[in-house]
Amino acid sequence: MMIMLTFDDAVTSSNYVYFQTIMDQQFRNPNGCPMKMTFFVCDDGGRNDYKLTRKLFRKGHEIASHSMSHRFPKSWWSQASVREYKEEFVGQRRKLSQLAGVPWENVRGLRVPFLSINGDSVMEMAKENHFTYDSSCVNRLLVDSTQHALWPYTLDFVPSGDVCDQPGRPTRSYPGIWEVPLTQYPCGDGEVGYMLDECQGHIGKGHATDVVSFFWRQFAHHYRTRAPMGIFTHATFFQNERRALRGLLEFLRGVALLDDVWLVSVGQVVDWMKQPTPTTSLHSFKPWKC
Ligand SMILES: [Zn+2]
Repeated sequence: MMIMLTFDDAVTSSNYVYFQTIMDQQFRNPNGCPMKMTFFVCDDGGRNDYKLTRKLFRKGHEIASHSMSHRFPKSWWSQASVREYKEEFVGQRRKLSQLAGVPWENVRGLRVPFLSINGDSVMEMAKENHFTYDSSCVNRLLVDSTQHALWPYTLDFVPSGDVCDQPGRPTRSYPGIWEVPLTQYPCGDGEVGYMLDECQGHIGKGHATDVVSFFWRQFAHHYRTRAPMGIFTHATFFQNERRALRGLLEFLRGVALLDDVWLVSVGQVVDWMKQPTPTTSLHSFKPWKC
């Protein structure tokens, strides 16, 4: 089973501390390669530290585009045109390549700020500019429910409201583009969230163990069908909820011991989707080599 850990927004020296803490654990995959994370990076008015972004890339992590401006209001994104999306996402890809040394073709993914999509504009822009995947669609499935977790899917078909539950979901097909959807976490107290930090104040209330069991519950849900499990968050979550980082590390330590669990980037999940490979052959699966 694949597990994705992703962080959104500008990379700064204060949130790099958390990334470093995770990297210091030296989690390894069954083929001996280090765990890979995905960073959806925005410039955010120059707040992004491109030196640190370069460091993350050099350590093997995936760098994806999360727009230039990350502007408000949220509704701007749900009405943006193909041209505006291009300025935002291709513009950020250019910055990442010029200032952080991430080759253009390595910025394969994108996530729209606030997950507030104008689906047809996003996907048209993604297709025209050779992005491989988007990860902005949400769905109403709930981890812990009796329904199976959702797998990534192609936009070779028009997505239904079941798999992309947003008013701005794409209304046409975009062959070749993949969607890696966000499923709802049950945060406890009846609250739900697509990003881990939406659970702030609900998980980790007691002590680190609560967080650990929260992650294991999600793991068990995804393990039933082996659908990839997403841990999508912002580093600021750990500033506000320190026990959550301890809990996450403990969970990752546990899964890193399993020989059929892989801690991979979103791009690597899409690579597997394009070329489904049985567990027994994964040691020699090229996109997951280091
Ligand atoms: Zn963001």
